[in-house]
Amino acid sequence: MSRVAVVTGGTRGIGHAISARLKADGMRVAALYSGNDEAAMHTREELEIIVLKCDVAESLECRSVLAEIESLLGPVDVLVNNAGITRDATLHKMNDNDWDRVIRVDLNGLYNMTRPVIEGMRARGFGRIINISSINGQKGQFGQTNYSAAKAGVIGFTKALALENARKGITVNAIAPGYIDTDMVAHVPHDVLEQIKAGIPVGRLGRPEEVAACVSFLAAEEQAFITGSTLTVNGGQYLA
Ligand code: NDP
Repeated sequence: MSRVAVVTGGTRGIGHAISARLKADGMRVAALYSGNDEAAMHTREELEIIVLKCDVAESLECRSVLAEIESLLGPVDVLVNNAGITRDATLHKMNDNDWDRVIRVDLNGLYNMTRPVIEGMRARGFGRIINISSINGQKGQFGQTNYSAAKAGVIGFTKALALENARKGITVNAIAPGYIDTDMVAHVPHDVLEQIKAGIPVGRLGRPEEVAACVSFLAAEEQAFITGSTLTVNGGQYLA
């Protein structure tokens, strides 16, 4: 029986590429999104996967959508915690909402999605959990105390959870992408983006499919000995 994978934020950008890749790998995939119905419908039709609305910041929504996915597809084997947002401002200008929202989506979302599935994975003796962090969680970034804190937290969460489940057939790994060509980066002003590109040794932005290929690698059955790691995918921009 093919594995069941859940991809949060699986309808756009990196998440869309991950959903497509895991489907191509033969998995039964459910993608979650929070508000953009048009992109969600497009992904559903294009990839022929299950697409459901769920705000990962809301624990009850996560529990209920995971129960729905399990009733439709069966127990979750692979969880990709990819959903993430930015709300940039220097700390001296940041408001409480921008701090809270980023922490709730980018960090609390991992707890909300992982807590309901971890006991089942432990009982069945198999699981692959892949958390999308960021280069800016590794090195910090001006204007992103909220995002850098959340994404550094993703790495700590990954390491602790990996240790807790190492004897249960569950691997937990993080991926720290650099700048990838998605809507999130489209919001960066043109001149800033040009400066960023100039600082990437490979000389270009990354592609969503390049991150998706790493998820596929970490989600594979045979990758049972890589756990607690952070895979850096940034064109050489920051060597952690
Ligand atoms: P996009 O903004 O292109 O897509 C984000 C996806 O996440 C969408 O599907 C969106 O749904 C969904 N989403 C947003 N908020 C929530 C929420 N509260 N609950 C559920 N789903 C949500 O982002 P990227 O593809 O660029 O980024 C994906 C991940 O990679 C993020 O965690 C990001 O921090 C990380 N990352 C991205 C980098 C980049 O350069 N792009 C670099 C490093 C890390 P909807 O369509 O409904 O809005």
